[in-house]
Amino acid sequence: MKGNSKVKSRYSMCTKLIYGKPVSKKWDYDHHVIPPISSSSTFRLDTAQRGAQGFAEFAHHHDGTAIESRAPIYIYDRLGEPNKELLEENLAVAEHGEIAVTFSTGMAAISALLGSLTGIGDEIIAHNILYGCTYSLLTNWYPRYKISTHFTDLKNPHLLMKAITERSRIVYFETPVNPTLELIDIEAVVDIVRKVNKHRKSTRKIYVVIDNTFASPFCQRPLEHGADFVVASLTKAICGFGTDMGGVVVGPEWSYDLLLLYRKDFGGALAAKSAWPILVYGLPSLPTRMKQQIENAAVIAAFLENDPRIRFVSYPGLTSFPQYDLAQRQMRDYEGNFAPGSLLYLSLKGKTPRARHEKGERFINYLAHNAYTITLAVSLGHIRTLVEHPSSMTHAAIPLDEQIKKGIDPGGIRLSVGLEKAGDIIHDLATALDHID
Ligand SMILES: *Cc1c(COP(=O)(O)O)cnc(C)c1O
Repeated sequence: MKGNSKVKSRYSMCTKLIYGKPVSKKWDYDHHVIPPISSSSTFRLDTAQRGAQGFAEFAHHHDGTAIESRAPIYIYDRLGEPNKELLEENLAVAEHGEIAVTFSTGMAAISALLGSLTGIGDEIIAHNILYGCTYSLLTNWYPRYKISTHFTDLKNPHLLMKAITERSRIVYFETPVNPTLELIDIEAVVDIVRKVNKHRKSTRKIYVVIDNTFASPFCQRPLEHGADFVVASLTKAICGFGTDMGGVVVGPEWSYDLLLLYRKDFGGALAAKSAWPILVYGLPSLPTRMKQQIENAAVIAAFLENDPRIRFVSYPGLTSFPQYDLAQRQMRDYEGNFAPGSLLYLSLKGKTPRARHEKGERFINYLAHNAYTITLAVSLGHIRTLVEHPSSMTHAAIPLDEQIKKGIDPGGIRLSVGLEKAGDIIHDLATALDHID
Protein backbone atom coordinates (compact mmCIF):
# COMPACT_ATOMS: atom_id res chain seq x y z
CA MET A 1 0.00 0.00 0.00
CA LYS A 2 0.96 3.60 -0.21
CA GLY A 3 2.60 5.96 2.21
CA ASN A 4 6.31 5.37 1.64
CA SER A 5 7.03 9.06 1.76
CA LYS A 6 6.29 8.96 5.46
CA VAL A 7 9.12 6.54 6.19
CA LYS A 8 11.84 8.83 7.39
CA SER A 9 14.48 9.15 4.71
CA ARG A 10 17.12 9.43 7.43
CA TYR A 11 17.18 5.62 7.82
CA SER A 12 18.77 3.09 5.50
CA MET A 13 16.80 0.52 3.56
CA CYS A 14 18.21 -2.35 5.68
CA THR A 15 16.50 -0.74 8.65
CA LYS A 16 13.28 0.15 6.84
CA LEU A 17 12.79 -3.43 5.65
CA ILE A 18 12.74 -4.53 9.29
CA TYR A 19 10.41 -1.88 10.68
CA GLY A 20 8.23 -0.97 7.68
CA LYS A 21 6.12 2.10 8.21
CA PRO A 22 6.61 3.45 11.75
CA VAL A 23 2.87 3.67 12.18
CA SER A 24 0.65 1.73 9.83
CA LYS A 25 -3.07 2.29 9.63
CA LYS A 26 -3.43 -1.25 8.41
CA TRP A 27 -3.79 -2.81 11.79
CA ASP A 28 -3.96 -1.73 15.38
CA TYR A 29 -1.48 -4.06 17.03
CA ASP A 30 0.40 -1.42 18.97
CA HIS A 31 1.46 -3.71 21.80
CA HIS A 32 2.86 -6.50 19.68
CA VAL A 33 6.45 -6.16 18.61
CA ILE A 34 5.77 -8.47 15.66
CA PRO A 35 2.48 -8.17 13.76
CA PRO A 36 0.22 -11.13 14.61
CA ILE A 37 -0.82 -13.59 11.90
CA SER A 38 -4.33 -12.77 10.79
CA SER A 39 -6.37 -15.94 10.59
CA SER A 40 -9.79 -14.68 9.71
CA SER A 41 -11.26 -15.00 6.23
CA THR A 42 -14.08 -12.63 7.07
CA PHE A 43 -14.42 -9.55 9.27
CA ARG A 44 -17.07 -8.36 11.71
CA LEU A 45 -18.92 -5.29 10.48
CA ASP A 46 -20.50 -3.50 13.44
CA THR A 47 -23.43 -2.10 11.49
CA ALA A 48 -24.97 -2.46 8.03
CA GLN A 49 -23.81 1.09 7.41
CA ARG A 50 -20.22 0.18 8.16
CA GLY A 51 -20.54 -2.78 5.79
CA ALA A 52 -21.96 -0.54 3.07
CA GLN A 53 -19.15 1.96 3.63
CA GLY A 54 -16.54 -0.79 3.40
CA PHE A 55 -17.90 -1.96 0.05
CA ALA A 56 -18.20 1.60 -1.24
CA GLU A 57 -14.61 2.38 -0.28
CA PHE A 58 -13.05 -0.81 -1.60
CA ALA A 59 -10.82 0.02 -4.58
CA HIS A 60 -11.98 3.65 -4.48
CA HIS A 61 -8.83 5.25 -3.18
CA HIS A 62 -8.95 8.00 -5.75
CA ASP A 63 -12.34 9.45 -4.93
CA GLY A 64 -12.24 8.57 -1.24
CA THR A 65 -11.27 11.48 0.95
CA ALA A 66 -9.93 10.33 4.29
CA ILE A 67 -9.50 6.60 3.66
CA GLU A 68 -5.77 6.69 4.27
CA SER A 69 -6.08 8.44 7.60
CA ARG A 70 -7.73 5.59 9.47
CA ALA A 71 -7.71 1.80 9.57
CA PRO A 72 -9.34 0.29 6.47
CA ILE A 73 -12.71 -1.38 6.81
CA TYR A 74 -11.81 -4.98 6.17
CA ILE A 75 -14.62 -7.09 4.75
CA TYR A 76 -13.31 -10.36 3.37
CA ASP A 77 -9.78 -11.74 2.92
CA ARG A 78 -9.89 -11.76 -0.89
CA LEU A 79 -10.57 -8.00 -0.90
CA GLY A 80 -8.03 -7.06 1.73
CA GLU A 81 -6.57 -8.15 5.06
CA PRO A 82 -3.88 -6.68 7.33
CA ASN A 83 -0.93 -9.07 6.86
CA LYS A 84 -0.72 -8.70 3.11
CA GLU A 85 -1.38 -4.97 3.29
CA LEU A 86 1.49 -4.46 5.73
CA LEU A 87 3.67 -6.52 3.39
CA GLU A 88 2.49 -4.40 0.44
CA GLU A 89 3.53 -1.20 2.20
CA ASN A 90 7.03 -2.60 2.69
CA LEU A 91 7.33 -4.03 -0.82
CA ALA A 92 6.49 -0.61 -2.27
CA VAL A 93 9.32 0.84 -0.15
CA ALA A 94 11.73 -1.94 -1.23
CA GLU A 95 11.10 -1.31 -4.95
CA HIS A 96 10.85 2.49 -4.59
CA GLY A 97 7.32 2.43 -5.99
CA GLU A 98 4.14 4.27 -5.08
CA ILE A 99 1.96 1.22 -4.48
CA ALA A 100 2.25 -2.56 -4.31
CA VAL A 101 -0.43 -5.22 -4.67
CA THR A 102 0.37 -8.82 -3.75
CA PHE A 103 -0.92 -12.01 -5.35
CA SER A 104 -0.92 -15.71 -4.53
CA THR A 105 2.07 -16.42 -6.83
CA GLY A 106 4.40 -14.62 -9.20
CA MET A 107 2.35 -15.87 -12.15
CA ALA A 108 -0.85 -14.53 -10.57
CA ALA A 109 0.86 -11.12 -10.29
CA ILE A 110 2.17 -11.19 -13.87
CA SER A 111 -1.17 -12.29 -15.34
CA ALA A 112 -3.04 -9.72 -13.22
CA LEU A 113 -0.93 -6.82 -14.44
CA LEU A 114 -0.93 -7.89 -18.09
CA GLY A 115 -4.67 -8.62 -17.84
CA SER A 116 -5.36 -5.23 -16.28
CA LEU A 117 -3.41 -3.27 -18.90
CA THR A 118 -4.54 -5.03 -22.10
CA GLY A 119 -7.76 -5.76 -23.93
CA ILE A 120 -8.86 -7.44 -27.13
CA GLY A 121 -6.71 -6.48 -30.11
CA ASP A 122 -3.79 -5.20 -28.05
CA GLU A 123 -0.22 -6.36 -28.49
CA ILE A 124 2.57 -7.05 -26.04
CA ILE A 125 6.19 -6.70 -27.14
CA ALA A 126 8.32 -9.14 -25.15
CA HIS A 127 11.93 -10.20 -25.07
CA ASN A 128 12.44 -13.49 -26.86
CA ILE A 129 13.51 -15.39 -23.75
CA LEU A 130 11.14 -15.36 -20.80
CA TYR A 131 10.37 -17.42 -17.73
CA GLY A 132 8.70 -20.58 -19.10
CA CYS A 133 5.22 -19.99 -17.64
CA THR A 134 5.18 -16.35 -18.74
CA TYR A 135 6.07 -17.54 -22.24
CA SER A 136 3.26 -20.09 -22.05
CA LEU A 137 0.79 -17.45 -20.79
CA LEU A 138 1.60 -15.23 -23.77
CA THR A 139 1.65 -17.96 -26.41
CA ASN A 140 -0.97 -20.47 -25.21
CA TRP A 141 -3.57 -18.34 -23.44
CA TYR A 142 -3.55 -14.70 -24.60
CA PRO A 143 -4.14 -15.53 -28.29
CA ARG A 144 -7.54 -16.88 -27.16
CA TYR A 145 -8.40 -13.38 -25.98
CA LYS A 146 -6.96 -11.82 -29.15
CA ILE A 147 -4.00 -10.37 -27.28
CA SER A 148 -0.92 -11.10 -29.32
CA THR A 149 2.76 -11.01 -28.43
CA HIS A 150 5.58 -9.89 -30.67
CA PHE A 151 8.82 -11.48 -29.47
CA THR A 152 12.02 -9.69 -30.30
CA ASP A 153 15.54 -9.17 -28.98
CA LEU A 154 15.20 -6.24 -26.59
CA LYS A 155 18.96 -6.09 -26.14
CA ASN A 156 18.83 -4.27 -29.46
CA PRO A 157 16.85 -1.01 -29.12
CA HIS A 158 16.47 -0.71 -32.92
CA LEU A 159 14.47 -3.92 -32.99
CA LEU A 160 12.16 -2.50 -30.32
CA MET A 161 11.60 0.63 -32.41
CA LYS A 162 10.71 -1.53 -35.41
CA ALA A 163 8.38 -3.76 -33.38
CA ILE A 164 6.16 -0.99 -32.00
CA THR A 165 2.79 -0.63 -33.73
CA GLU A 166 -0.45 1.22 -33.02
CA ARG A 167 -1.61 -1.89 -31.15
CA SER A 168 1.39 -2.12 -28.80
CA ARG A 169 0.52 -1.50 -25.14
CA ILE A 170 3.25 -3.20 -23.12
CA VAL A 171 6.98 -3.80 -23.44
CA TYR A 172 7.76 -6.76 -21.18
CA PHE A 173 11.06 -8.33 -20.15
CA GLU A 174 13.22 -9.82 -17.42
CA THR A 175 16.71 -8.55 -16.68
CA PRO A 176 18.88 -10.48 -15.99
CA VAL A 177 17.22 -12.74 -18.53
CA ASN A 178 16.31 -16.18 -17.20
CA PRO A 179 18.39 -18.34 -17.61
CA THR A 180 21.15 -16.81 -19.75
CA LEU A 181 21.70 -13.84 -17.38
CA GLU A 182 22.11 -11.49 -20.34
CA LEU A 183 21.02 -7.99 -19.41
CA ILE A 184 18.57 -5.62 -21.07
CA ASP A 185 19.29 -1.93 -20.75
CA ILE A 186 16.22 -0.63 -18.94
CA GLU A 187 16.96 3.04 -19.65
CA ALA A 188 17.49 2.40 -23.37
CA VAL A 189 14.06 0.71 -23.57
CA VAL A 190 12.41 3.44 -21.50
CA ASP A 191 13.90 6.17 -23.76
CA ILE A 192 12.36 4.65 -26.86
CA VAL A 193 8.98 4.07 -25.27
CA ARG A 194 8.87 7.63 -23.90
CA LYS A 195 9.58 9.05 -27.36
CA VAL A 196 6.75 6.98 -28.85
CA ASN A 197 4.37 7.86 -26.00
CA LYS A 198 4.79 11.59 -26.68
CA HIS A 199 2.70 11.11 -29.81
CA ARG A 200 0.07 8.88 -28.21
CA LYS A 201 -3.21 9.56 -26.47
CA SER A 202 -3.04 8.99 -22.73
CA THR A 203 -5.39 6.00 -23.09
CA ARG A 204 -3.03 4.31 -25.57
CA LYS A 205 0.28 4.74 -23.78
CA ILE A 206 2.81 1.93 -23.84
CA TYR A 207 3.96 0.70 -20.42
CA VAL A 208 7.35 -0.78 -19.63
CA VAL A 209 6.92 -3.80 -17.34
CA ILE A 210 9.90 -5.60 -15.84
CA ASP A 211 10.03 -8.92 -14.04
CA ASN A 212 12.55 -8.19 -11.29
CA THR A 213 12.51 -11.67 -9.73
CA PHE A 214 16.08 -12.59 -10.70
CA ALA A 215 17.81 -9.50 -9.35
CA SER A 216 15.46 -8.82 -6.42
CA PRO A 217 15.01 -5.19 -5.34
CA PHE A 218 18.23 -5.45 -3.36
CA CYS A 219 20.26 -5.63 -6.59
CA GLN A 220 18.13 -3.55 -8.94
CA ARG A 221 15.13 -1.21 -8.80
CA PRO A 222 13.73 -0.89 -12.34
CA LEU A 223 11.37 1.95 -11.34
CA GLU A 224 14.44 4.08 -10.58
CA HIS A 225 15.47 3.56 -14.21
CA GLY A 226 12.10 4.75 -15.51
CA ALA A 227 10.11 1.52 -15.85
CA ASP A 228 6.37 1.88 -15.19
CA PHE A 229 5.79 -1.41 -13.36
CA VAL A 230 7.73 -4.14 -11.62
CA VAL A 231 6.36 -7.65 -11.24
CA ALA A 232 8.09 -10.25 -9.12
CA SER A 233 7.74 -13.66 -7.65
CA LEU A 234 7.97 -13.40 -3.87
CA THR A 235 8.56 -17.15 -3.84
CA LYS A 236 12.22 -16.59 -4.74
CA ALA A 237 14.72 -14.20 -3.12
CA ILE A 238 12.21 -12.08 -1.22
CA CYS A 239 10.76 -15.02 0.73
CA GLY A 240 14.27 -16.46 0.62
CA PHE A 241 13.75 -19.52 2.78
CA GLY A 242 11.71 -21.58 0.33
CA THR A 243 8.66 -21.81 2.55
CA ASP A 244 6.00 -19.75 0.78
CA MET A 245 4.71 -18.62 -2.60
CA GLY A 246 3.66 -15.13 -3.54
CA GLY A 247 3.80 -12.45 -6.19
CA VAL A 248 3.70 -8.68 -6.36
CA VAL A 249 3.04 -5.81 -8.74
CA VAL A 250 4.67 -2.49 -7.85
CA GLY A 251 3.73 0.60 -9.80
CA PRO A 252 2.10 4.02 -9.93
CA GLU A 253 -0.70 5.03 -7.60
CA TRP A 254 -3.32 5.19 -10.38
CA SER A 255 -3.04 1.42 -10.91
CA TYR A 256 -3.82 0.52 -7.29
CA ASP A 257 -7.62 0.33 -7.53
CA LEU A 258 -7.46 -1.43 -10.89
CA LEU A 259 -5.22 -4.16 -9.49
CA LEU A 260 -7.36 -4.57 -6.36
CA LEU A 261 -10.48 -5.02 -8.50
CA TYR A 262 -8.69 -7.51 -10.73
CA ARG A 263 -7.52 -9.49 -7.71
CA LYS A 264 -11.01 -9.44 -6.20
CA ASP A 265 -12.61 -10.89 -9.35
CA PHE A 266 -9.89 -13.23 -10.64
CA GLY A 267 -9.17 -14.32 -7.11
CA GLY A 268 -5.40 -14.74 -6.88
CA ALA A 269 -5.10 -13.21 -3.41
CA LEU A 270 -2.02 -13.92 -1.29
CA ALA A 271 -2.93 -15.94 1.82
CA ALA A 272 -2.27 -14.12 5.09
CA LYS A 273 -0.36 -17.18 6.30
CA SER A 274 2.05 -16.76 3.37
CA ALA A 275 2.24 -12.98 3.61
CA TRP A 276 3.31 -13.21 7.24
CA PRO A 277 6.64 -15.08 6.92
CA ILE A 278 7.59 -12.89 3.96
CA LEU A 279 6.80 -9.80 6.04
CA VAL A 280 8.48 -11.00 9.22
CA TYR A 281 11.43 -13.09 7.98
CA GLY A 282 11.87 -12.68 4.23
CA LEU A 283 11.97 -8.98 3.51
CA PRO A 284 13.81 -7.95 6.72
CA SER A 285 16.62 -10.43 5.99
CA LEU A 286 16.82 -9.76 2.22
CA PRO A 287 19.76 -7.31 2.34
CA THR A 288 21.90 -9.49 4.62
CA ARG A 289 21.16 -12.67 2.67
CA MET A 290 21.74 -11.08 -0.71
CA LYS A 291 25.01 -9.46 0.32
CA GLN A 292 26.42 -12.83 1.39
CA GLN A 293 24.95 -14.69 -1.59
CA ILE A 294 26.49 -12.18 -4.01
CA GLU A 295 29.86 -12.63 -2.29
CA ASN A 296 29.51 -16.42 -2.61
CA ALA A 297 28.40 -16.22 -6.26
CA ALA A 298 31.43 -14.09 -7.16
CA VAL A 299 33.86 -16.61 -5.61
CA ILE A 300 32.14 -19.56 -7.30
CA ALA A 301 32.01 -17.76 -10.68
CA ALA A 302 35.76 -17.13 -10.46
CA PHE A 303 36.40 -20.79 -9.62
CA LEU A 304 34.31 -22.01 -12.57
CA GLU A 305 35.82 -19.51 -14.99
CA ASN A 306 39.29 -20.85 -14.22
CA ASP A 307 38.34 -24.52 -14.54
CA PRO A 308 39.37 -25.95 -17.93
CA ARG A 309 36.34 -28.25 -18.03
CA ILE A 310 33.88 -25.34 -18.11
CA ARG A 311 32.87 -24.01 -21.54
CA PHE A 312 31.46 -20.75 -20.23
CA VAL A 313 30.16 -19.18 -17.07
CA SER A 314 27.83 -16.24 -17.27
CA TYR A 315 27.74 -13.98 -14.22
CA PRO A 316 27.18 -10.21 -14.44
CA GLY A 317 29.86 -9.68 -11.79
CA LEU A 318 32.69 -11.16 -13.87
CA THR A 319 34.80 -8.66 -15.80
CA SER A 320 34.58 -11.14 -18.71
CA PHE A 321 30.77 -10.70 -18.74
CA PRO A 322 30.01 -9.15 -22.16
CA GLN A 323 27.70 -6.52 -20.65
CA TYR A 324 29.83 -5.78 -17.60
CA ASP A 325 29.48 -2.00 -18.06
CA LEU A 326 25.71 -2.21 -18.19
CA ALA A 327 25.73 -4.51 -15.14
CA GLN A 328 27.75 -1.87 -13.28
CA ARG A 329 25.23 0.83 -14.21
CA GLN A 330 22.05 -1.11 -13.62
CA MET A 331 22.68 -3.53 -10.75
CA ARG A 332 23.34 -1.59 -7.57
CA ASP A 333 22.29 -2.26 -4.01
CA TYR A 334 20.54 0.28 -1.81
CA GLU A 335 23.83 1.88 -0.86
CA GLY A 336 25.12 2.08 -4.41
CA ASN A 337 27.46 -0.92 -4.29
CA PHE A 338 27.72 -3.18 -7.33
CA ALA A 339 25.21 -6.01 -6.80
CA PRO A 340 25.36 -8.52 -9.66
CA GLY A 341 23.02 -11.09 -8.07
CA SER A 342 23.28 -14.67 -6.85
CA LEU A 343 22.65 -16.61 -10.07
CA LEU A 344 25.15 -18.25 -12.38
CA TYR A 345 24.64 -19.85 -15.77
CA LEU A 346 27.27 -22.27 -17.03
CA SER A 347 27.94 -25.03 -19.48
CA LEU A 348 30.45 -27.87 -19.54
CA LYS A 349 32.73 -28.42 -22.51
CA GLY A 350 31.54 -30.79 -25.23
CA LYS A 351 31.93 -30.85 -29.00
CA THR A 352 28.25 -30.92 -29.99
CA PRO A 353 25.12 -29.54 -28.33
CA ARG A 354 24.05 -33.15 -27.71
CA ALA A 355 27.36 -33.99 -26.00
CA ARG A 356 27.04 -30.89 -23.83
CA HIS A 357 23.49 -31.77 -22.98
CA GLU A 358 24.48 -35.28 -21.86
CA LYS A 359 27.41 -34.01 -19.85
CA GLY A 360 25.25 -31.37 -18.18
CA GLU A 361 22.77 -34.05 -17.24
CA ARG A 362 25.46 -36.30 -15.78
CA PHE A 363 26.87 -33.37 -13.80
CA ILE A 364 23.47 -32.48 -12.36
CA ASN A 365 22.68 -36.11 -11.56
CA TYR A 366 25.99 -36.48 -9.78
CA LEU A 367 25.27 -33.35 -7.73
CA ALA A 368 21.72 -34.52 -7.01
CA HIS A 369 23.01 -37.80 -5.55
CA ASN A 370 26.21 -36.73 -3.87
CA ALA A 371 26.43 -33.04 -3.08
CA TYR A 372 25.72 -31.93 0.48
CA THR A 373 25.34 -28.22 -0.36
CA ILE A 374 23.65 -28.32 -3.78
CA THR A 375 20.07 -29.48 -4.35
CA LEU A 376 18.52 -30.31 -7.70
CA ALA A 377 15.37 -28.20 -7.64
CA VAL A 378 13.78 -25.37 -9.56
CA SER A 379 13.22 -22.00 -7.86
CA LEU A 380 16.02 -19.65 -6.87
CA GLY A 381 17.15 -17.00 -4.45
CA HIS A 382 16.89 -19.32 -1.46
CA ILE A 383 19.38 -19.79 1.37
CA ARG A 384 20.12 -23.27 -0.03
CA THR A 385 22.07 -23.55 -3.28
CA LEU A 386 19.85 -24.94 -6.04
CA VAL A 387 20.81 -26.31 -9.43
CA GLU A 388 18.62 -27.00 -12.45
CA HIS A 389 18.73 -27.68 -16.18
CA PRO A 390 16.67 -24.93 -17.89
CA SER A 391 16.55 -26.59 -21.31
CA SER A 392 14.65 -29.64 -20.04
CA MET A 393 13.01 -28.08 -16.98
CA THR A 394 12.02 -24.41 -16.52
CA HIS A 395 12.29 -23.53 -20.21
CA ALA A 396 10.96 -26.76 -21.71
CA ALA A 397 7.90 -24.79 -22.94
CA ILE A 398 10.19 -23.22 -25.55
CA PRO A 399 10.86 -25.70 -28.41
CA LEU A 400 14.49 -26.95 -28.47
CA ASP A 401 15.42 -25.41 -31.84
CA GLU A 402 13.98 -22.09 -30.62
CA GLN A 403 16.01 -22.40 -27.41
CA ILE A 404 19.24 -22.81 -29.35
CA LYS A 405 18.36 -19.86 -31.62
CA LYS A 406 17.74 -17.75 -28.53
CA GLY A 407 21.02 -18.64 -26.85
CA ILE A 408 19.77 -21.22 -24.33
CA ASP A 409 22.54 -23.81 -24.40
CA PRO A 410 21.10 -27.36 -24.38
CA GLY A 411 23.77 -28.17 -21.78
CA GLY A 412 23.30 -24.95 -19.81
CA ILE A 413 23.07 -25.25 -16.04
CA ARG A 414 21.58 -22.66 -13.72
CA LEU A 415 23.02 -22.35 -10.25
CA SER A 416 21.26 -20.27 -7.60
CA VAL A 417 23.86 -19.65 -4.94
CA GLY A 418 22.77 -19.86 -1.32
CA LEU A 419 24.18 -18.98 2.08
CA GLU A 420 26.44 -21.99 2.60
CA LYS A 421 30.19 -21.39 2.94
CA ALA A 422 31.43 -20.70 -0.63
CA GLY A 423 34.31 -23.17 -0.19
CA ASP A 424 31.84 -25.96 0.62
CA ILE A 425 29.83 -25.30 -2.54
CA ILE A 426 33.05 -25.24 -4.57
CA HIS A 427 34.11 -28.54 -2.99
CA ASP A 428 30.87 -30.16 -4.15
CA LEU A 429 31.16 -28.66 -7.65
CA ALA A 430 34.80 -29.74 -8.01
CA THR A 431 34.03 -33.28 -6.82
CA ALA A 432 31.24 -33.56 -9.38
CA LEU A 433 33.51 -32.27 -12.17
CA ASP A 434 36.18 -34.83 -11.23
CA HIS A 435 33.71 -37.69 -11.31
CA ILE A 436 31.99 -37.11 -14.62
CA ASP A 437 35.09 -36.70 -16.76
C1 LIG B 1 9.51 -18.11 -10.45
C2 LIG B 1 9.40 -17.03 -11.44
C3 LIG B 1 8.16 -16.53 -11.84
C4 LIG B 1 6.86 -17.09 -11.34
O1 LIG B 1 6.69 -17.02 -9.98
P1 LIG B 1 5.80 -18.06 -9.12
O2 LIG B 1 5.82 -17.49 -7.76
O3 LIG B 1 6.45 -19.40 -9.25
O4 LIG B 1 4.44 -18.06 -9.76
C5 LIG B 1 8.15 -15.49 -12.75
N1 LIG B 1 9.27 -14.97 -13.26
C6 LIG B 1 10.49 -15.43 -12.91
C7 LIG B 1 11.70 -14.80 -13.50
C8 LIG B 1 10.59 -16.47 -11.99
O5 LIG B 1 11.81 -16.93 -11.66
